[in-house]
Amino acid sequence: TLDAPLAEAWIRALAAAVDAHQRELTDLDSAIGDGDHGSNLHRGFTAVLAVLDSPEDPPEPADAGAVLGRTGRTLISKVGGASGPLYGSAFRAMGAALPPSPATPAEFAGALAAGLAAVRQLGGAGPGDKTLVDAYAPALAAFEQAVAAGAGLARAAEAAAEAAEQGMRATTPLQARKGRASYLGPRSIGHQDPGATSTALLFRTLADVTG
Ligand code: ADP
Ligand code: MG
Ligand code: MG
Repeated sequence: TLDAPLAEAWIRALAAAVDAHQRELTDLDSAIGDGDHGSNLHRGFTAVLAVLDSPEDPPEPADAGAVLGRTGRTLISKVGGASGPLYGSAFRAMGAALPPSPATPAEFAGALAAGLAAVRQLGGAGPGDKTLVDAYAPALAAFEQAVAAGAGLARAAEAAAEAAEQGMRATTPLQARKGRASYLGPRSIGHQDPGATSTALLFRTLADVTG
């Protein structure tokens, strides 16, 4: 089950992964965007860590939904560019979808689905548009399928991480239809999408902390 300590461990692991991969994310964004994806997320997660380390005013309940909600609101307020509002809305929606009690794998699948719905509502991207949706959507499908087959959080998260990484790699031959990379038209082909790459980190760190 997903409780507040595990949610916080996930966000801290994701912040560390963003830190370790900041250069790679920025290099990918330099090829088909404006070269700030690594620094955008680094700024956002640095702020998230500061928020997690500070006492809440007013105090919030110590549940997983509150942790993810604070993460989302912080990303929205601290990160300009497409990725802050998109990831921020995803975490905020996940937080709102979680019950106050520790979440079962099925409840967490519902929260991940709410996160993707928020991304798609805000950004309007669908599968194949060469965005983070191309990593998130297959990861969610793999997570849901694993849970339906009786998997616990760890096994479902591992399946999701593998699907996200496959989806990330599959963005390379695509032509971008959303976001800055779409301005390049066919010249966006042949480069891995930066946002799909950070989404693979999101699911890989979930597998790391639950496994
Ligand atoms: P910006 O493009 O504003 O500089 P970032 O560089 O931080 O923002 O993030 C770029 C990433 O955001 C892209 O690689 C893509 O995955 C994702 N992205 C951009 N637009 C959208 C959208 N409309 N829907 C989903 N994801 C998007
Ligand atoms: Mg950018
Ligand atoms: Mg930018």
